[in-house]
Amino acid sequence: MVKEELEHLKELQQIDSKILEKKHFTDKIPSRISKAELPLRESQAALDKIKHKQDTLEKSKRDKEREIDVINEKINKLKSRIADIKTNKEYQAHLKEIESVEKDRYSLEDGILIIMEETDAALKEIESQNAKLRTDKNKTDEFKKKLEIEMSEAEKELQSLNEKRDRIVNAIDKEIYNQYMILIESCNALAVTEAKGEICLGCNMNIPPQLFVEIKKNEEIINCPQCRRILYFKNT
Ligand SMILES: [Zn+2]
Repeated sequence: MVKEELEHLKELQQIDSKILEKKHFTDKIPSRISKAELPLRESQAALDKIKHKQDTLEKSKRDKEREIDVINEKINKLKSRIADIKTNKEYQAHLKEIESVEKDRYSLEDGILIIMEETDAALKEIESQNAKLRTDKNKTDEFKKKLEIEMSEAEKELQSLNEKRDRIVNAIDKEIYNQYMILIESCNALAVTEAKGEICLGCNMNIPPQLFVEIKKNEEIINCPQCRRILYFKNT
């Protein structure tokens, strides 16, 4: 009878260790996903940045074009007044004014050319960053899918482990089970452990030879004198 209880306890410990392991595994999945998404988030941020740069370039180009429109209007006005000019001196001054305004226009046009070159570079960068983003997204999606499958498998295994556990718990004497659970709480989730070569593998302390002889029989529930864990002997 007691021998059977010991067998049940060993089995229960095995199941509880597996359950714990599975739970550790599933608990870590969200952070693994979030870590895997990091390159994707970084690619997105890089893309947003370069898109913002391109918007700024476009805006600055439009501003310069508007300035050119204003200048062109000014030049046309100045030219239309040429007919009214009476003296040569006035005429020379007038030409100079037109020349100076035209100079402003040339410098704006140069500015636009530079902006267009920068825009070309930005567009190319956007294109390559978009490609990188797609690759990163595919990789992340694939990884997430893999983890989701692993998660659902782990959940299924947990369910079957819990069912097995319930069956064993039903077969164990309630008081012994309570003792087991107290040990699980206090002994770092290891309540039942092997005794090997007069040593408790739970706390690595020596077991008195006389007690070890009793443990080797696997007929009684014997606790480690040091850590109180339930000990069994593995016959190999
Ligand atoms: Zn011990």
